[in-house]
Amino acid sequence: MTSGVSVTILGTAQDGGIPQSGCSCRTCMEAHKDFKLRKYPVCLGVIGSDGSKHIIEITKNLSEQLMIWTTIGKEIFIPETVSISHLHLGHIEGIGQFGKPVMGLKKIDIFLSRENKKNFDNRSDIRLMIEDDNIRTHAKEFYQPFEPKEGCGFSLQFIPIPHRSELGDTSAIIINGKERNILFMPDQDSWEKTLEYYSKDNVRDFFRIFDIDEALIDGTFWSMEELPGRNISEIPHPTIQDSLQLLGKKMEDDPEISFLHLNHSNPVNDINSKQRKIVELNGWKIAEMGNVLTL
Ligand SMILES: [Zn+2]
Ligand SMILES: [Zn+2]
Ligand SMILES: [Zn+2]
Repeated sequence: MTSGVSVTILGTAQDGGIPQSGCSCRTCMEAHKDFKLRKYPVCLGVIGSDGSKHIIEITKNLSEQLMIWTTIGKEIFIPETVSISHLHLGHIEGIGQFGKPVMGLKKIDIFLSRENKKNFDNRSDIRLMIEDDNIRTHAKEFYQPFEPKEGCGFSLQFIPIPHRSELGDTSAIIINGKERNILFMPDQDSWEKTLEYYSKDNVRDFFRIFDIDEALIDGTFWSMEELPGRNISEIPHPTIQDSLQLLGKKMEDDPEISFLHLNHSNPVNDINSKQRKIVELNGWKIAEMGNVLTL
């Protein structure tokens, strides 16, 4: 039996999206021309059992993402709450859309970690939106499940993840349903740091702490050779190759795992690539926009 809660994947790209602004790489050139090849920065849309609407992350492509989420023929969905994993650009870039110049929404609840709420509230544009009553920000403690709206039929839980912290801290967000738990973990510096933080020596034990059935995890880069001219160690993420090495083949009791937060340079963006086949042959997936997960 399902709980009547659905989670729609509304974005699968790294913060810059695909095509990335000003990029003439092959992947971006094809996506500039063909709308269907575009990928928006990571975002999830959750519909509660009471029909209430909630998003995780608020990106520069909010308009397109709300359209993808909306059931054909109905009015475009408007989220009642937003939960934010961390304050890096791509995860919050769309927040201004809620304000006076665009949607002019009222009393939208924004959930963040305590540290991130403090830093977020300190921005002059955010302060103005709070004064205008467009948004209300709420600090949530790590590990404490909360219902974004009373009676929505699911809860959210922020858990801390080591990730470059110049603007605040970083969470993964767990969506706890009655039957299943989904982990949304778009950014981390490395498995080594995350496992050390949780005193675990393998990825499966980390998932077990939180009883995860389905995980959407950081797949920013395929390998370290990907960004010619930029030092990839300054933009730390585990590569999909690292993750495959740690995970090996999917075993019977493993959670479903999909990679997202894909950089434009990642060869798995090409559905015919040998790298994507390697992921699939191991029993794992590349997340796709529009896919619906149930809780
Ligand atoms: Zn990111
Ligand atoms: Zn590109
Ligand atoms: Zn980040």
